[in-house]
Amino acid sequence: MSRVLIVGAGLTGSLCACLLRRELQNKVQIVVWDKARGSGGRMSTSRSPDPSSHSADLGAQYITATPAYAKSHHSFYSELLSSGVLQPLHGLIEGLKQKDDSKNYVTPLGMSSVVKHFLSESGADLFFEHHVTGLYRRGASWEVERKAGGSETFDAVVLTMPVPQILQLQGDLGHLLSVQQRQKLDGVEYSSRFAVALFFSPDVVLSFPWAARYVTDSPCIRYIAVDSRKRKADAAGLGPSLVIHTSVQFGLEHLERDKEDVQPIILQELHKLLPGLPQPISIKCQKWRYSQVLTSVPDCPGHMTIVNLPLLICGGDAFSHSNFDGCVESALSMLSVLKDSLTP
Ligand SMILES: Cc1cc2nc3c(=O)[nH]c(=O)nc-3n(C[C@H](O)[C@H](O)[C@H](O)COP(=O)(O)OP(=O)(O)OC[C@H]3O[C@@H](n4cnc5c(N)ncnc54)[C@H](O)[C@@H]3O)c2cc1C
Repeated sequence: MSRVLIVGAGLTGSLCACLLRRELQNKVQIVVWDKARGSGGRMSTSRSPDPSSHSADLGAQYITATPAYAKSHHSFYSELLSSGVLQPLHGLIEGLKQKDDSKNYVTPLGMSSVVKHFLSESGADLFFEHHVTGLYRRGASWEVERKAGGSETFDAVVLTMPVPQILQLQGDLGHLLSVQQRQKLDGVEYSSRFAVALFFSPDVVLSFPWAARYVTDSPCIRYIAVDSRKRKADAAGLGPSLVIHTSVQFGLEHLERDKEDVQPIILQELHKLLPGLPQPISIKCQKWRYSQVLTSVPDCPGHMTIVNLPLLICGGDAFSHSNFDGCVESALSMLSVLKDSLTP
C-alpha cells in the first residue's frame, strides 16, 4: 500500500486527502501533517478563551460561487449545503460589491468546518504540531524531516503551504527545481493583513444593523464583521464576536512589527469607527503574512510537479487563485497526478 503525506491541513490539503480517499479507497494510506495546533489554515476559526463567547473566523469570511463555478464545482457545493456546513448568506454586508449572479455562502460553525468536513471524510491519519523542515530523496521514497526532530518516509509527498514556506524547506527540493520552476515560484506574491477578534460577554448587544461592513475611509481597517450575525449563529446564548481585517497597505507597512504592538493601533482606529463599542472579555490578534495571492504561479494547471518518482507535487491557492474554488481546482488537479502515479 502506498503511503502519501499531505503537508497542510488547510482547504487544499484536506480536500486533496478526501478526493484521494474517495478515488483510491483502501489502496492508499493518507497521512496529513500540519505545523499548527488545529486544522483550517487560512480558513481558521478561533475559539474565545472564555467559553461564553462566540468563535470568530480570523481568515476567510464567506464563500462566493460565480455562476461558472457553481456549475463546474456543483458537487462540492451541494455536498456542503446538504450536510449543513454551508448556508446561503442572508445578513447585510455593507459595501459588498456583488458581481453578476454570484451566490454567497456562510458557515454556521465557522470557516474551519469546511476543512474539517473534508478531513473527516478523508479518514486520513492527522497529526498537528508536525512542522516539516526538510525533504530528502531516498531511492523511491521521500524522507520527510520534522522541526521537533525525527523523520518518516513516504512514497509520495504533496505540499500545500504558501509558496515562500515551500521554498524554505531544506534538503533536496532546492536543487530538484528547474530554473524555470524556481523563477515561477519566486514570482508568487501575497498580500499581508492583520486580523483582530473581539469576544464579548453574552449580555452585550451590538447596536449597528449590519452583519459585516467594508470600510473605505480608514487607512487601517478594511473590513469589520459581527461574526455570529454573519453566520446567523446568534441563537446559542453566547456573546457576540467581532472580527476586524486591516487594509493591505496597513498590513504591508506593519508587517515586520510584533502583533502585540500593532493590536493597540487597530483597536484605536476601531473605536474611531465604532464609538461606544463595549469592552470585550478577550481579544486575539493574528498576523497573516501570506494572506491572499496577488500573483499566482503562471501557466500552471493547479499544481506543479517537482519530481515524478518518487512523486513530489506542490499545490494550493498560489497555483490557481485565492478562494474556495481556487483550492478546489488545485486539489482536483493534484488528484489526477496522484491517481496516475499511485495506480499501476
Ligand atoms: C484574511 C483573509 C481573508 C480571506 N477571505 C476569503 C474569503 O472571504 N473567501 C474565500 O474563499 N477565501 C478567502 N481567503 C483565502 C482563503 O482563505 C485561502 O485561499 C485558502 O484558505 C487557502 O487554503 P490552502 O489550503 O491552499 O492554504 P492554507 O490555508 O494556508 O493551508 C496551508 C497549511 O499548511 C500549514 N503549513 C505551512 N507550513 C508548514 C510546514 N512547514 N509544515 C507543516 N505544515 C505547514 C499551515 O499551518 C496551513 O494550515 C482569505 C484569506 C485570508 C488570510
